[in-house]
Amino acid sequence: MKHRNSDQSESLKRAIRGAGLRATPARIATLKLLHAATSPLTHAEVSNELRDLGVDKATVFRNLNDMASAGLLTRNELGDRVWRFELVTEDDGHSSTHPHFVCVDCGTVSCMNEIKLTAGSLRLSQEFGEVTEILLRGHCNECE
Ligand SMILES: [Zn+2]
Ligand SMILES: [Zn+2]
Repeated sequence: MKHRNSDQSESLKRAIRGAGLRATPARIATLKLLHAATSPLTHAEVSNELRDLGVDKATVFRNLNDMASAGLLTRNELGDRVWRFELVTEDDGHSSTHPHFVCVDCGTVSCMNEIKLTAGSLRLSQEFGEVTEILLRGHCNECE
């Protein structure tokens, strides 16, 4: 377990440096947190988790934005004016975006990792513009 953790730190460090940023402990901790998360996290959620490590909110905010600009994270606004961050996922060497499901009752955001726009749909959607996120809204199973 310990071995796996240090392997993960090494690969996260490489990813951060590969994006042209310094691999600071706060950035590594942020990526670890997002790696373990099953849904995108808000700035407040990341701040809460990293507070025990002595990372202040302003640093968390700056790191999230820097890593999003560097292409390590995606930054989505899902209709509630709150930015949510998650790791960029690689799919056959291409970074791919997955749809999110937002519950209109409780606000829970879920990653729909298995659902994708087909290549044909993506091509058709270019008639309207570049798709940067796909959002589905409804009532989650907990709220139904
Ligand atoms: Zn719900
Ligand atoms: Zn997601």
